Amino acid sequence: MNKPIASVARTREILKTYDLRARKGYGQNFLVDVSVVARCAEAAHAEQAVIEIGPGIGALTEQLALRSAHVRAYEVDERLLLVLRDTLQDYTNVEIILQDFLTCDIAASVRELKETYGGVSVAANLPYYITTPVLFSLFAQGRDIEWITVMVQKEVADRFAAPVNAPDYGTLSVESQYLYEVERLFNVPRTAFNPAPKVDSAIVRFHRRPETPQDEELTDYFDLVKACFKQRRKTIYNNLKEYLQDAQQTEQVLQRAGIDPGQRAQECSPGQFAVLLKEIRG
Ligand code: SAM
Repeated sequence: MNKPIASVARTREILKTYDLRARKGYGQNFLVDVSVVARCAEAAHAEQAVIEIGPGIGALTEQLALRSAHVRAYEVDERLLLVLRDTLQDYTNVEIILQDFLTCDIAASVRELKETYGGVSVAANLPYYITTPVLFSLFAQGRDIEWITVMVQKEVADRFAAPVNAPDYGTLSVESQYLYEVERLFNVPRTAFNPAPKVDSAIVRFHRRPETPQDEELTDYFDLVKACFKQRRKTIYNNLKEYLQDAQQTEQVLQRAGIDPGQRAQECSPGQFAVLLKEIRG
C-alpha cells in the first residue's frame, strides 16, 4: 500500500523519480501534509463531480478521488501528465485535462459534469498568481457551482472573508460576499509544502447564495462597488459623485438607499450596495 501522495516521503520520491523541479512560474508548491489535503477534500462537498485546478503531482486529487464520483483536474504543466498517470493509476474516477484552466470553456465543462453526475463543486490549491481571475471565472458560473473550496494566500483569504468595516474589507470582500456565504476554514503554514512558499495560506469556502444576479446586473454591481472604493479615504458621496458625474443624483440615490453620504464605502454592507444599485437603475 502506497503512502498518501501528500506526504514528505512520497512527494520527495516522486520528485526524484521524475527528476522534477517545481516551476515557480506556475506557482508550484506541492502539499506534503495529508491532514491538510484530507480536511480540504472533506470540506469541498465533492460527492458528485469535482473540478480541480492544478493537480500538481496529485496530492489533493487523490483525496478528492476517495470522496467523489468523478474528479476532473486541469493542469497546465505538460511534465506532470506522465507523473499523474502514474501516481493516480489506482483511481479510475480521475480525468486529467492538460490545459490552462483560464482558456477552457468552463460553462460547457460544468454543464456536462452536472448532467452526468448531478452536481459540480470546485476544490483547488490555487496557483497564487491567478487566484483572482480563476475565482471570478468560477463566480461567473452562477449557481451551477454551488461550492468552491480553495487554498489561497492567507492575506487574500482575510480579504475575501473580512466583515464590514474591518481593515481588510474591500471590493473582493463585497463582491464575493454578495454572491456567496464566505467561510475562512483554517490556516495552512508554509511548512506544509515542498518547496515551502514565502507566505502562509488558508482554506476559504464559498457557498453560493440562492438568489444572485447575473450578467449585466452583476457587472453593474461590480462597477458600482469598485467606483465607491476608488479612493478609500474619500466619503461614499465623493466617490459616487465622480462615478455618476451628477451631484444631485448622487445625493438623491444615497438618501433613498438610506446611506449616510458622509460614510465611507468600507462601512457599507454588500446588501446596501445592492439597494444603492437598485436606486441608481431606477
Ligand atoms: N494541487 C497540488 C498540491 O496541492 O500539491 C499542486 C498545487 S500548486 C500550488 C498549483 C498547481 O497549478 C501546479 O501544479 C501548477 O502547474 C498548476 N497551474 C498553474 N497555472 C495553471 C493554469 N493556468 N491552469 C491549470 N493549472 C495551473
